[in-house]
Amino acid sequence: MKENLFGKTLVELKAVAGGIGLPAYAARQLADWLYRKGATSVDRMTNLPRAARQALAEAYELERREPTRVTESSDGTRKYLFPAASGGFVEAAWIPEEERSTLCLSVQVGCKMGCLFCMTGKQGFQGHLGSGEILNQFASLPERDRITNIVYMGMGEPLDNLDQVLSSLDVLCSSYGYGLSPTRITVSTVGIIPAMREFLARSRCHLAVSLHSPFEEERRRLMPVEHVYPLREVLAVLREEAVRGQRRISFEYILWDGVNDTPGHARELARLLEGIRCRVNLIPFHPIPGTPLRPSPRESMERFEMDLRRRGITTTIRQSRGQDIAAACGMLSTRELVKRRAEAE
Ligand code: SF4
Repeated sequence: MKENLFGKTLVELKAVAGGIGLPAYAARQLADWLYRKGATSVDRMTNLPRAARQALAEAYELERREPTRVTESSDGTRKYLFPAASGGFVEAAWIPEEERSTLCLSVQVGCKMGCLFCMTGKQGFQGHLGSGEILNQFASLPERDRITNIVYMGMGEPLDNLDQVLSSLDVLCSSYGYGLSPTRITVSTVGIIPAMREFLARSRCHLAVSLHSPFEEERRRLMPVEHVYPLREVLAVLREEAVRGQRRISFEYILWDGVNDTPGHARELARLLEGIRCRVNLIPFHPIPGTPLRPSPRESMERFEMDLRRRGITTTIRQSRGQDIAAACGMLSTRELVKRRAEAE
């Protein structure tokens, strides 16, 4: 199988150039074709010698995949389904708002983390996406020129695919690539500590940690990762980062009726987050099949928000988007998977 040229960083492109006998500066020409001019074939790289183009085409492919399906919500949110090289499908969501529009992209086909409330987790792990496949969800999106923000919050755990995620961020945020500001990009994690330390050292993008319960026992039931990397250790790392002072951390907190939306949860959460410069995003739950979890009613969410704000925590309730198009992450790709399997039988 040929390697994908699309998605390579400038450093990697220098090695590619060297490997086919081109000088190091040719890496910039390659990047220009790949990321500025959107070349989908090596033949288009006309400022490279013919022999170099031939050598490139023999060793590399330039894989860009168009979405195979799009569904649009009545609120304007669009979900795209992209085929993955390792088989299966990944989802990207485009979420327009009044003053910005956000792309939510995926990093793995399925996921290993097994969170109780997640449809992607129920699919199991099927493979990592390469940097080019992650970037393809941005580059091949019809609304690409309108994107103001990117969140790595689709299928998969970004820090479980750290190298490819960091390469994709390098391309997104560098002048040789797409030149986006790292402050417009947020990467989410369940809190894989060694990878989190590495991410904080190597990237200037925002980090969002999925918290969902301040109580160990309860979080273990919701998120098996708590067995390996307990929240208190995750928060200790983030507290160090807060002391260094540069970066704002956000915490994602899905609210479930009668499970984690009580005043006691708000109190404990505020206590845990003391000393960390952060924001808490309260997220309405998009129901999925096969779980007893139910969304918190609006009034419980608002009470929870007030409880945190009163304790000095910057808190917002996220809008629920795309409810009518299988909004929960992993729903659309799971449906596609089930359909394909049924067709194959
Ligand atoms: S919530 Fe995120 S980390 Fe957990 S199973 Fe789903 S995709 Fe994986």
